Amino acid sequence: MRKMEQLFIGGKWVKPSSGDVIEVIDAGDESLLGTVPVAKKAEVDKAVRAARQALGKWADTPVAVRAELLEKAANNLKARGSEIAEVISREVGMPLKMSQRIQAALPVIVMDSCAKVLREFPFEVQIANSRVFRVPKGVVVAITPWNYPLHQLVGKVAPALAAGCTVVAKPASEAPLSAFMLAEALEAAWFPPGVFNLLSGNGPETANLLVQHDDVDMISFTGSTSTGTKIAATAAATAKRVTLELGGKSPSLVLDDADFPKALRTTVNNCFLNSGQTCNALTRLLVPRNRLTEVEELVLPLVAGMTLGDPGDPNTKLGPLVSARQRDRVRQYIKEAIQAGTRLLIGGDAPPEGLSRGFYVRPTVFTDVDPGAVIAQEEVFGPVLCIIGYRDLEEAVAIANGTPYGLAAAVWSADTDRALQVARRIRAGQIDINGAPFNALAPFGGFKHSGYGRELGVFGLEEFLEPLSIQLSA
Ligand code: NDP
Repeated sequence: MRKMEQLFIGGKWVKPSSGDVIEVIDAGDESLLGTVPVAKKAEVDKAVRAARQALGKWADTPVAVRAELLEKAANNLKARGSEIAEVISREVGMPLKMSQRIQAALPVIVMDSCAKVLREFPFEVQIANSRVFRVPKGVVVAITPWNYPLHQLVGKVAPALAAGCTVVAKPASEAPLSAFMLAEALEAAWFPPGVFNLLSGNGPETANLLVQHDDVDMISFTGSTSTGTKIAATAAATAKRVTLELGGKSPSLVLDDADFPKALRTTVNNCFLNSGQTCNALTRLLVPRNRLTEVEELVLPLVAGMTLGDPGDPNTKLGPLVSARQRDRVRQYIKEAIQAGTRLLIGGDAPPEGLSRGFYVRPTVFTDVDPGAVIAQEEVFGPVLCIIGYRDLEEAVAIANGTPYGLAAAVWSADTDRALQVARRIRAGQIDINGAPFNALAPFGGFKHSGYGRELGVFGLEEFLEPLSIQLSA
């Protein structure tokens, strides 16, 4: 049991003013995995003050030093990779092997890449008689979700620190433990006191106090669209800068000339990654209507072969969901879709056999789904795929764009130029052609209700900088 009793404020581990704690539950067996403190107003004020006090010196710290500290912190995280992978696997439910490859390894890559981007970034440019400086936005509050807890946090903290901002982080209550390991990694790298502060606590209480705080300059948020838009409205009262990385209902658009087995295999694996708890999951498979039967025959064995079970078991392909709340929410979506007459290819809302403890949901596929149906429109955040038929390319693009979201998409075609033309018509921030790999330097973020602002690479760094223009006389 991991009992975290202190918060990280001003470079010190501090006992909180209240004894309130949040219980962290093991998604696989519902046992108590740990507890973390709830930061109250006293800690919120203290952390923001520490971040404000540290800001001036940190902003003036040479780029080379900031980059070096980030690289040290990345190494510290790397050294604890197996521990991080195990903790997140138990918190979130991702199978351990995958958790090692994604939950533990990706934050190290992102932090390292941030240091590289920082070293090469032009902080000063001359435009005619103006010298334009890129200066840090100031005190940043990072509010993050539970699905990729360390990756989401590092995706904000590393570029913010690189930019010369100082940070107060509030991780998700379902999966807060790796945030404490991040604080330890930054502390061991000798980041100056106050540059990074960690407050665990409840969203509506601790995070909301941070969003309202007069002395915070920017909120960087990832999570649900409803919470994100609420945060943006609150932050508007004090003119805070806000970036929002929100939900998705991303299409995988398979054109008639595509390699169907490859396209379907990749889409299924992507959709069910982390039990569907992924903001850019490809949850809508768009295929030519006259090939629906063939698609169903190919998809069925892929999903039937997804062994559901304990995330620690090496044979497990699909783990549980993060919490009882998420399990019930996802099963309700499935139940209502069945009641609405949507054709079920495999899965369903019944509890899976032999798994009486843990938050398990059967991998579920609906087929011949009406693109306007609730199950094809809303972010389910569980192991649920919708197969949708289209008549022609125009209809396919309209369906791809026909949800409130616009985070990611995939396009499949034997002709890359054709795929590229189609991809450019889709309103989404990240589009992969023919299963192209994730790029940790490419901008990540959404259109429409998927939010605004970008993370990763140069674009991610720029979010934390403000232009300051000085005109010089001749
Ligand atoms: P939320 O968006 O509510 O939570 C994300 C973060 O915001 C957490 O740190 C949370 O804290 C915090 N938060 C919650 N309420 C407030 C508030 N009033 N003010 C400030 N911060 C707040 O997501 P949920 O965990 O409730 O998940 C619900 C649904 O959201 C999922 O089913 C999924 O559809 C979507 N989601 C999307 C994600 C994405 O990556 N796009 C990630 C996670 C969820 P706390 O944990 O303490 O509540």
